[in-house]
Amino acid sequence: MSKALEKFLSENLDDLKSKGLYNEIDILEGANGPKIKIRGRELINLSSNNYLGLANDERLKKAAKEATDRYGVGAGAVRTINGTMDIHDELEKTLARFKGTEAAIAFQSGFNCNMGAISAVMTKKDAILSDELNHASIIDGCRLSGAKIIRVKHQDMEDLRAKAKEAIASGLYEKIMYISDGVFSMDGDVANIDGIVEVCKELDIISYIDDAHGSGVMGKGAGTVKHFGHAKNIDFQMGTLSKAIGVVGGYVAGTKDLIDWLKVRARPFLFSTSLTPANAAACIEAIRIMEEDPSLHQKLWENGDFLKKELKNLGFNIGASATPITPVIIGDETLTQKFSRRLIEEGVYAKSIVFPTVPMGTGRVRNMPTAQHTKEMLLEAVRIYEKIGKELGVI
Ligand code: PMP
Repeated sequence: MSKALEKFLSENLDDLKSKGLYNEIDILEGANGPKIKIRGRELINLSSNNYLGLANDERLKKAAKEATDRYGVGAGAVRTINGTMDIHDELEKTLARFKGTEAAIAFQSGFNCNMGAISAVMTKKDAILSDELNHASIIDGCRLSGAKIIRVKHQDMEDLRAKAKEAIASGLYEKIMYISDGVFSMDGDVANIDGIVEVCKELDIISYIDDAHGSGVMGKGAGTVKHFGHAKNIDFQMGTLSKAIGVVGGYVAGTKDLIDWLKVRARPFLFSTSLTPANAAACIEAIRIMEEDPSLHQKLWENGDFLKKELKNLGFNIGASATPITPVIIGDETLTQKFSRRLIEEGVYAKSIVFPTVPMGTGRVRNMPTAQHTKEMLLEAVRIYEKIGKELGVI
């Protein structure tokens, strides 16, 4: 190994480990369901994004197996050479219908979708206004584009309006975009889509909503933008296929012209091999289930409301989530990490989220109830929360 690399790795790894910041990855022995097995122990799982339980749904598995038999395991090329199969085309048409737009484009992940889509449209002649709590993939997509990045206070429409006006008045930029998560995954709060549409229309700003955590959850499954009736008013409806939809991938839904442009300029679409046929088929099946059967969606909300009510009644601070995402805000970073460790020891897999992912002093244990959890599982989790909350003096 190069001496410089050896030095870099040992110094930095040692530093992380000595500060207790090195994240040892837990390995699941089996599916990521409402209960998971780690090192032989079964735990109630409150940490996955598998909101509707579709990641291990029999119908999706069947669709994936049939697609594998028909098309093989790989697409064989990037989309623009000959890696576009009819199943990819069907997935994109399905996404457009589901999102209420003219067209859609699928990517291999939500992360590379943000990287590709933002940088396909925005350039160094432009400015991007970005909510300060936006996801890392948005931040990286903005950086890659070379545009001027202007942070906007979280969910603050007046700050957005003022900074947008300032950017316009400077005369420095050809285009201005505003980007926000649809649902913020650390607090479970929902973007003010009405306010965003109003400001973007008034000032002619391109609007981009990353609905990774809203798709399948908000708007009877169709997402936050549709929930507020703005499918035609938001330019980019971005989302992932990896959370409620249960598989993996990302997409943008929008006008035909926008999607035509992304298909010739979004670099991960052009230069990285297509989604596997099994992946595409499972996503189509997931959307079919969401469109035809509201029961999973209803169960998800019922479970979210139940968990929130029970934890709040015990005296925990669960913030102001407007979705099933249930943060238990503890504050101190070390105490938060200890709380999560104790939960895992007692049988609940719920991870701590601390600075720098969330602001200093707002450490929390984040809980993601899903449609697959039973009342018994949630009650058992609440019982363990109560025990540890009292033990550590949090309640
Ligand atoms: N955007 C947001 C808001 C996310 O939370 C995530 C996933 N953590 C992504 C994008 C990336 O999606 P994916 O996991 O599909 O790459």
